[in-house]
Amino acid sequence: MIVFFRDISRVLNAPCREHARMMTLAPEVPLRRGERAGLWLHLRICKGCRGLKAQLDRLGSILGRAANKEDPEAAMPEAVRQRLRDRFADESSKN
Ligand SMILES: [Zn+2]
Repeated sequence: MIVFFRDISRVLNAPCREHARMMTLAPEVPLRRGERAGLWLHLRICKGCRGLKAQLDRLGSILGRAANKEDPEAAMPEAVRQRLRDRFADESSKN
């Protein structure tokens, strides 16, 4: 419990570049509960970090869609795929 409040306090007192680092790394480096709470509170009061968060969320959803092969919009067009196959066949016939 003490760690929780210490984390909140530490995050709230950290400079914005530290919040930016936490938000950028958040998917790979999980935050502790207190750090998440501190970041959440900071986002209520800091317009700059809110803007960055919105951009990261947008980027995340674009990348997520591109990674989702079920989405036909995000899939590689057949013409591009064929060109890559031809290119690959050319390259391997040379060797
Ligand atoms: Zn900030």
